[in-house]
Amino acid sequence: MNPEMSPSSEVRLVGMHCTACGAMAYPFQAVCPICMAEDEVAEADMPTTGTVYAYSTVHAAPKKWRLPYTIGYVDLSNGVRVFSHLDPKGLGVGAAVYASTGIVSGEAVEEPRTQLVFKAVGDAK
Ligand SMILES: [Zn+2]
Repeated sequence: MNPEMSPSSEVRLVGMHCTACGAMAYPFQAVCPICMAEDEVAEADMPTTGTVYAYSTVHAAPKKWRLPYTIGYVDLSNGVRVFSHLDPKGLGVGAAVYASTGIVSGEAVEEPRTQLVFKAVGDAK
């Protein structure tokens, strides 16, 4: 198992756009969270950059998680707010971040779990 982060510059965020009310959300949802339309939602690419709205560090969790880990809200450049893992390096409220990936699972998990992790701009490796 490789516990190190695995940076990726080719992250695509597929969200949702509702043609009935104009709402956008990430991740994709089959039902619009604003107007409840079901037939008028479509996949939409989200921007992969944004700013940190709020974040926190988790120190106690089941062994399947890699501790400590940082989670929070990122406001994408189109205004959609995303809840995600965050890389703590260079992080702060209002910090510019970009979408990347990282291993978020702990050693108790045989298959490392890689998922969306936002990283501070300027801390790219
Ligand atoms: Zn809608």
